[in-house]
Amino acid sequence: MKLDEKLINTVKGFLDRQEGKALYEIALEASRRGPCLEIGSYCGKSTIYLGSACRKNNSVLFSIDHHRGSEEQQPGEEYFDPELYDRKTRRVDTFKEFRNTIEKAGLEDTVVPMVCRSELAARLWSTSLSLVFIDGGHSYAAAYTDYNAWAGHIMPNGYLLIHDIFKDLEKGGQAPYHVYKLAVASGLFKEVSMINTLGVLRRMPSGAIPETLPQK
Ligand code: MG
Repeated sequence: MKLDEKLINTVKGFLDRQEGKALYEIALEASRRGPCLEIGSYCGKSTIYLGSACRKNNSVLFSIDHHRGSEEQQPGEEYFDPELYDRKTRRVDTFKEFRNTIEKAGLEDTVVPMVCRSELAARLWSTSLSLVFIDGGHSYAAAYTDYNAWAGHIMPNGYLLIHDIFKDLEKGGQAPYHVYKLAVASGLFKEVSMINTLGVLRRMPSGAIPETLPQK
């Protein structure tokens, strides 16, 4: 099955088409070797790209989001969307939208939604991942937590993808970029490419891991 561009255009999200296509292509290669995982699924736009690739290889995409919106998506903040606000519970709720997207995209047998914070999902995690996509909260604390919780689960030659990399301070928040630099400085990952604001890193093969790792 090809990517459903029509559906993708109806899904709310902050991922552009080129970035999405890159997610798809990389996941197509990676998911042959193991499951993929994303943090920050929101309404499911990136989930369609990653999940469609996983489906082709009969693999699985774990998709983590507490679905309460990140800091910048709360009422009164810059990225608040009233359509995603549940008046009854007085909370942002993106899970309904997400579920709807997964169903329409035919990904219910591929995507495992994990409705919780990423560090809870990671607490007893022990499965090696072929790809981790970090697109969760954009505060330093949230971005570091996501990186620290998941980077160690990426298999040798697996991918670490980070969204919203702005090398120019004027263009956007710096937390994802700092995490990107931290990953490179660790010696565990090498830079592969940058597609708009999508940073692509690849885990070194096991033999290349330096004996002494820099402190986190
Ligand atoms: Mg993003």
